[in-house]
Amino acid sequence: MIEDNGGGASGFADLMLAPELCRALSDLGYEEPTPIQLAAIPPLLAGRDLVGQAATGTGKTAAFALPVLQRLLAGDERAEPLALILVPTRELAVQVAAAMRSYGRDMGARVLAVYGGEPIGRQLGPLKRGVDVVVATPGRALDHINRGTLKLGGLEILVLDEADEMLDMGFAEEIEAILASTPAERQTALFSATMPPRINGMVRRHLREPVRAELGRQAPASAGGLLVRQTAYLVPRGYKAAALGRVLDLERPTATIVFCRTRDEVDQLTESLNGRGHRAEALHGGMDQKQRDRVMARLRSGTIDLLVATDVAARGLDIDQLTHVINYDVPSAPESYVHRIGRVGRAGREGTAITLTEPREQRMLKTIERVTKRPIKLEKLPTLAQLRSERLERMRTELRETLLKDDGELNAFRSVVGPLGAEFDPYDVALAAVQLAHEASEPPREDEEIPAVEQPSADDRRPARKTRPRDQGRPTGPAPRRGRRATTGTTRLFVSTGRSDGVRPQDLVGAIAGESDLSGRDIGAIEIADRFSLVEVPESAADDVVRALRGTSIKGRKTTVRRERYPAR
Ligand code: AMP
Repeated sequence: MIEDNGGGASGFADLMLAPELCRALSDLGYEEPTPIQLAAIPPLLAGRDLVGQAATGTGKTAAFALPVLQRLLAGDERAEPLALILVPTRELAVQVAAAMRSYGRDMGARVLAVYGGEPIGRQLGPLKRGVDVVVATPGRALDHINRGTLKLGGLEILVLDEADEMLDMGFAEEIEAILASTPAERQTALFSATMPPRINGMVRRHLREPVRAELGRQAPASAGGLLVRQTAYLVPRGYKAAALGRVLDLERPTATIVFCRTRDEVDQLTESLNGRGHRAEALHGGMDQKQRDRVMARLRSGTIDLLVATDVAARGLDIDQLTHVINYDVPSAPESYVHRIGRVGRAGREGTAITLTEPREQRMLKTIERVTKRPIKLEKLPTLAQLRSERLERMRTELRETLLKDDGELNAFRSVVGPLGAEFDPYDVALAAVQLAHEASEPPREDEEIPAVEQPSADDRRPARKTRPRDQGRPTGPAPRRGRRATTGTTRLFVSTGRSDGVRPQDLVGAIAGESDLSGRDIGAIEIADRFSLVEVPESAADDVVRALRGTSIKGRKTTVRRERYPAR
């Protein structure tokens, strides 16, 4: 039986979301609400306060953004913002604002991201002209409130996103001050990955009889009996497709389903996989049974190896022959994970489940592990050198087998080897033949370097800081000299962004000086390679800098910073 809603976003219509929003979601390729959206949207639409325990990757942004936009749709144009969304970092401010604009694209929602680091003057114009939703970091929001440039008299909804993170970053006072300048009758929603006592205190003080939306508490259908090898790879943002390619090169699966979140992602990934020489086909929710059967027959016969699908599209498929399930993103809830991996390891056969996880999604992965009570092994992506040596090893075995079983078939090639053997050393002829075979068996791909992701500690929140972090402007120091080796008393840090991301020395100096206690003058030589950079800092400050830069972005790219693993001698 196939339960198919035709790939539309009808699940959202069931939540009583307006057609304008449903249309935008459907165009974005969202097929059904995630659990946190199912739990949070109805009470928020009904005007209730809400506490949502949800980490990144669960779809929490849409869970609050959609009700805010729906409220906007219901009212007239206003002079003051309807909603204020507080987020811990400028990256998140930009991301949330972008998500809101895309959900609200058909309704002309005026959404402004307001954060430190950007000249305050640039934010004044739009604020003066009038905006509907302000997405802000607490420091800069308070700054605007104090200047009288952000007026909250007409505010109806306040959202605290990643509240635990905001408190960890030392924003408690700012948040209290901001709350005090909003109307008492406002609606408040608080989202947090964890619920430490300080968050509960905040909830008690500022929310009125909130509905609680907690995920991952109830045990999902058991994953216990399955014969599934579970692995996850930590992959930096922006390298997912390359990482998947590498995992596929390593595993060489024959019948695999790759799960994506949205239809758009399915289409893009299918194209990129085919471009890399894999044989992949997209499975769409809108396909009828005949079309599905055809795709499945191609998978069964080995015409294709990979099926790329959303949860909805893959519903009801008869896929007993699958060997691998790959989660291109961490699923939005443990239930979805269990459902997906239940597709392999059936009937006593062994299966493999592989999950690609961005550092920010690791918390969700831990929740899945806890709820399913099954360990998910975090492995390192194979390096290009490892893949190459495996391929060569495979070729050696195959050549050996061919030589051992020689039943005269090799004679057909004597006319090639004979004359060449007279002209060249036969050993060299063999080497050249191996090279040709090697290239023919696997056309050279654009081999991409994938930076390692630093393994965060068990609790990957930022440590509380003594002083309030600067979400103000970043100083830019003079660009230090390049190319020197680390000198005594200094150490070099690896930063996973480089020339191909447009990074310049002053960007690195700005990021380090803006986020840590170092000033531009403390920073030594900077080497910028294509895909990474090395920055010399005082040894005594190295760990603090690494901590301070955890999770930040440089030039819009999420960046890993760690000590250099293999310092130059
Ligand atoms: P978030 O947890 O809000 O950071 O969202 C994680 C990712 O899930 C984002 O890339 C969203 O675009 C995506 N997303 C959110 N809701 C849905 C949904 N209902 N279906 C598919 N993707 C979604």
